[in-house]
Amino acid sequence: MLKLYNTLTRKKEIFRPTKDKKVGLYTCGPTVYNFQHIGNYRTYIFEDVLRRTLEENGYKVKHAMNVTDVGHLVSDADEGEDKIEKGAKREGKSVWEIAKFYTDDFLANLKKINVKKADVVAPATKNIKEQIILIQQLFKRGLAYETDKAIYFDVSKFKNYTKLSGQKLKEKIIGARDEVVVDPEKRNPQDFALWFKLVGRFKNHAMRWKSPWGAGFPGWHIECSAISAKYLGQPFDIHAGGIDHVNVHHTNEIAQSEGAFGKPLAKFWIHGEHLLVDNQKMAKSAGTFYTLADLEKKGFNPLVFRYLVLGTHYRSKLNFTWKSLEAAQNALNALTNNLQLTTNDKIKTQSANRNLTRLSLVKLEKKFLNAVNDDLNTPKALAMIWQLIKDNQIHPKDKKALLLKFDQVLGLGFDQIKPKKNQKIPPKIEKLVAEREKYRTNKQFIQSDRLRKQIERLGYTLEDTAAGPKVLRK
Ligand code: AMP
Ligand code: ZN
Repeated sequence: MLKLYNTLTRKKEIFRPTKDKKVGLYTCGPTVYNFQHIGNYRTYIFEDVLRRTLEENGYKVKHAMNVTDVGHLVSDADEGEDKIEKGAKREGKSVWEIAKFYTDDFLANLKKINVKKADVVAPATKNIKEQIILIQQLFKRGLAYETDKAIYFDVSKFKNYTKLSGQKLKEKIIGARDEVVVDPEKRNPQDFALWFKLVGRFKNHAMRWKSPWGAGFPGWHIECSAISAKYLGQPFDIHAGGIDHVNVHHTNEIAQSEGAFGKPLAKFWIHGEHLLVDNQKMAKSAGTFYTLADLEKKGFNPLVFRYLVLGTHYRSKLNFTWKSLEAAQNALNALTNNLQLTTNDKIKTQSANRNLTRLSLVKLEKKFLNAVNDDLNTPKALAMIWQLIKDNQIHPKDKKALLLKFDQVLGLGFDQIKPKKNQKIPPKIEKLVAEREKYRTNKQFIQSDRLRKQIERLGYTLEDTAAGPKVLRK
């Protein structure tokens, strides 16, 4: 039985899909004006574990995700510069080139951290018509109004506008007043833009489309309402994203979709906590962020980052340090070595024993499933992996089969681990190694180097360790 924490009800609930075994899952995608940082990727990893857990429970998941390639302004208050235009200016490229470059980089990185690609990856710019229709529907329902500058959603006309965050509307008003209200025709300070007209600072806006209100471009929130309805219908089962989206973006998505169609947008709202650095939210604006490429430059496999993320529950904050990444690397290396050994299958276990351990295998599998089904408790699930690895009674073949099954949910890439080649060293090589070691201890380095080269030419590598020379086939 799968239980998930629903932000909407503020409690863990049993998950039951609307349509028997089919699940509609929507996750907010990236804004493609710069590289995504590893904080962003923490969110995509948690969403991937959610998807894989649903699949493990036998559900057929349809996963849709938007790509914000237009109209995402620097401030949530619909003010400031368009981030994509800013990126284009910075890099001397067109807005379209910028969006394509960072979308491709994002998708390539998801692959590196084993995040399954969404069934639908929908750029906002390819779904403009749907956004316009949605805005027209909001006009019909009396929830939208037009000014000289833009089309806005009137939050005072929508009941329970802040139901997701639980914020008091009054608090939101105070917050909104702190920001400079640029449109004097706006009815309420917290009304948000659905469509921008090409006036004032947007006069030369590069991305523009025709609409019933003249040429312009959509506000940020409307794309998710339009794309989710198009591909998943309404209501769909689960909407997920980072916790920072609760107060503004998801609150506005709910207002738009539920306002337009008079029915819930999604049954479950699931939010992942932030990745921190120096105990502050990792954010591009703060300048304290790392990309996946930064990790790779330091020699870390991106899957090490995935392991690190899985070690903390998705609803807890996680402070990133290089030390913790190193610890994750050591742990993942140890797991990999173990898996290589079990794959090699040198250890012989009596078949009678194999039957005896079946029971512990079943128990472990149950414990693992209970852990992930308990609101995606990945730290506990990882502990089950270690329990399995350390159990010497279990036959290597059974171990491997179960580890691969666990990895369907955790996605650490165990299926890509190749067995180590047969490392039996021929007597001829062993003899050369021993001879070379004699020279080396006698400090006859010319002779010892000559023998090392000979060993290497014969296809072996030689490493001097504290425990003596270690020879491996290349
Ligand atoms: P953005 O490209 O800014 O729209 O963000 C993409 C996703 O990353 C969203 O779901 C955000 O909630 C999430 N996100 C942004 N910063 C962080 C962070 N420091 N830790 C975890 N998730 C984050
Ligand atoms: Zn969204």
